[in-house]
Amino acid sequence: MSSGISERLAAIRARMREAALRAGRDPGAARLMGVTKTVEPERVREAFLAGLTLFGENYVQEALPKVAALAPEAEFHFIGHLQSNKAKKAVETFSAVQSLDRPSLADALNRAALAAGRTLPVLIEVNLGDEETKAGCDAEGALALARLAGGWPGLSVAGLMALPPWSENPEESRPHFRELARLAKSIDALKLPNVSMRELSMGMSNDFEVAIEEGATIVRVGTLLFGSRNT
Ligand SMILES: *Cc1c(COP(=O)(O)O)cnc(C)c1O
Repeated sequence: MSSGISERLAAIRARMREAALRAGRDPGAARLMGVTKTVEPERVREAFLAGLTLFGENYVQEALPKVAALAPEAEFHFIGHLQSNKAKKAVETFSAVQSLDRPSLADALNRAALAAGRTLPVLIEVNLGDEETKAGCDAEGALALARLAGGWPGLSVAGLMALPPWSENPEESRPHFRELARLAKSIDALKLPNVSMRELSMGMSNDFEVAIEEGATIVRVGTLLFGSRNT
C-alpha cells in the first residue's frame, strides 16, 4: 500500500527547512499543519503514522471521527468559518481555533471555554486582500479583537492567521505575508494582557515557502500532501 503520503511529507518538510534556512531562520522554525477537509479518516491516520501531529479542519462535524481516532497524540486546530452556535462543540473538539474573526464569536468561545474549565488559544483571522467573499477582519478589527479577547479569561490570543487572495504565483502572496508579520509585531508592541503574537499561521500548498521566508510559524498544507480535493 503506497499512497505516497510519507514521501510527500518528507518532500514538504525538506522544502520547509530550505525556506527557513534561506531566510536565516532555524530550520524547524515553522510547523507543518495537514489540512484534512474532505480527507478520509484513514488517510489522516496514515499521515499521523508517517509522523504528522498537527491537523487543521474546516468543519466541526467532519472533524469528529478524526479527532476521536487520533487526539490527544495529534493536535487539531479549527481553521474554518465558525458559527457561534458551534462554539461549544468546537471547544470540546479542538485544541485551538485559528479563525476568530468577530467579537460575537470571541464571546461565544470565551463562554464555552469557561464552561469547559479551560483556556482556549485563539488566532485572529485577518483578511489581507480585503476580499469581500472571505472571512477575517482588517488590521484595525484585529487590534480591537486582540484587546477584547485578551481581556477574557477563557481565551488566550496566540497570534494571527491569514489566507491571502489566491494566485498562481506565490510571490504575489509575499507582501500580504509581510503585512501580517508587521501587524503581529505592532500588536505585540502594545503588550496587551493575554495577548502574545507567537504564532503566524500563513502559507498553503502553493505559497508555504514564501510564508516561511516571511516568518510563518505554522503552514497549512492540504492538496500538496493529500492530493486534490473532490468537489
Ligand atoms: C483548504 C485550506 C487550506 C489548505 O489549502 P491547500 O491549497 O489545499 O494547501 C489552508 N487553510 C485554510 C483555511 C483552508 O481552508
